[in-house]
Amino acid sequence: MSKSIVQAPKSRFIHVMCKKCKNEQVIYNKAATVIVCTGCGMEMAKPTGGEIIVNAKVLEILG
Ligand SMILES: [Zn+2]
Repeated sequence: MSKSIVQAPKSRFIHVMCKKCKNEQVIYNKAATVIVCTGCGMEMAKPTGGEIIVNAKVLEILG
C-alpha cells in the first residue's frame, strides 16, 4: 500500500509588524487575498496560491 504525502505548506499564523507604521497584527500564512496593514493600509503580504510572501517584519511564527 502506498501513501502519497502532499508537501503542502503548513497552516499557521504569523505575528508581523508593519515596516511603515509599526502596527502589529497576526496574519494567516495561506491567505488567499492581499493582506494590508490595518494602521496605514500598506500591503503586508501577498498570496501565491500556497504560502504568502510577507512584506513586513516577522516577530513570531505562531503554531
Ligand atoms: Zn502600517
